[in-house]
Amino acid sequence: MSKQTILGWINENEGIFTNMAQRIWENPQIAYEEEFAAQLQMETLKDAGFKIKQNIGGVPTAFVAEFGSGQPVIGILGEFDALPGLSQTISAKRDEIVPDGPGHGCGHNLLGTAGVEAVMALKEVMLVENMSGTIRYYGCPAEEVLSGKTFMAREGVFDDLDCALTWHPGTSNVVANMSAQAMVSIKFHFRGITAHAGGAPHAGRSALDAVELMNVGANYMREHMLDGLRIHYVITNGGLAPNVVPDKASVWYYLRASTKEQVDEMLVRIKKIAHGAALMTETQVDSEMLAFCYETLPNDTLNDVMYENLKLADELVFTEEEEKFAGELVATVDPAIVAMSKRRFGVPTEDLLPTGIEYHKHMKGVTMGGSTDVGDVSWITPVGQVYTTCAPVGVQAHSWQATAAYGSSIGMKGMQLAAKSMALSLYDLLTNQEIIIKAREEFKESTAGKPYSVAIPEKVKPPVTAAVELVGI
Ligand SMILES: [Zn+2]
Repeated sequence: MSKQTILGWINENEGIFTNMAQRIWENPQIAYEEEFAAQLQMETLKDAGFKIKQNIGGVPTAFVAEFGSGQPVIGILGEFDALPGLSQTISAKRDEIVPDGPGHGCGHNLLGTAGVEAVMALKEVMLVENMSGTIRYYGCPAEEVLSGKTFMAREGVFDDLDCALTWHPGTSNVVANMSAQAMVSIKFHFRGITAHAGGAPHAGRSALDAVELMNVGANYMREHMLDGLRIHYVITNGGLAPNVVPDKASVWYYLRASTKEQVDEMLVRIKKIAHGAALMTETQVDSEMLAFCYETLPNDTLNDVMYENLKLADELVFTEEEEKFAGELVATVDPAIVAMSKRRFGVPTEDLLPTGIEYHKHMKGVTMGGSTDVGDVSWITPVGQVYTTCAPVGVQAHSWQATAAYGSSIGMKGMQLAAKSMALSLYDLLTNQEIIIKAREEFKESTAGKPYSVAIPEKVKPPVTAAVELVGI
């Protein structure tokens, strides 16, 4: 039976992929610098007979690996970037490997690897059963800065997909039927006039004043926004010395909302505030957009398929040692935060490493606080997504505790489960046309009248540094 063949292949080859995830965890690289992971995954897939298209949209670490031919065309979305400042050993006390270095605090070492594993497992069955259809693994860089998939989408690489599947490391095995927020990442650069701050303050025009007034304006705007909209900012340049009136100052904003239209509206208002601040301080302002991603559009049809396949995989079994490590990690987190996490999705749990398979139907339509560039792909083609237990309940994403968990055998086990769910679902999609028809009908309904167009302006280029160069495949 084919599904058993897939599960058998994944179990037999587990070592290859835990090794890959481990090595990527040991070589963490931040957005647009993921040379190690991209090179390793491209080489592995090429050796397995996949055709590789690299340097998508001028991003050296963006690639597509393809196997098979004809219809349908199904994609798996993978990620592999790390986060700055989250370097950490696999231990339950803060212990950086490289001081202030990057670390896999979002588990993307697991995320991409499970995708490679799923397409390679499928390839084996496709050969044995002489199946038609095309499977693709998308090596998507720079998810953490919310723009890798947007730049890939601009190249049209997702346009001919019938469906796509993905997953994310989490703290339970659950279908992702909730949405993530749409978001714009934009910097405002103010320009003023330098002067001696003590001797001739009247001659200066402070760009920092403009930044501060802009932030005051933005904070007053908060009172007059819809519920759930979010504004956060950091001042990236506030001048160099108190006795020099700063002629340059910059502030970096994230604006989030449950729909892209709402982010568009917020952006218009925040730009007016920036111009107001410039007017008040007699400075000039320019803006620089870095990313603009859509909210995610869950697809129930694909989520249902992934849920059924999560149940077909062997149940996760954690050892006493893993349970102990989970308890030690959670003990380092504020108990109030842990208590909140245990009530996640409104369902209380005492289990630190949940092994059951959950589907919270009541979460449909709920928008979570974070954002992802998976949102863009979900407006181009139907996307199914699940989470699996890769860290203990109470450990927060983007923390050193998460880096430790995602490098440990807990993360590896969750990754195996995700690979199985994706591989089995790929099989279903290749062999049952009805699922694709249903998923696409649902997609058509949810996107009706709102065709996708890339939200970042054409002039915005991916921030790739010249130092990043991969060996040709
Ligand atoms: Zn992530």
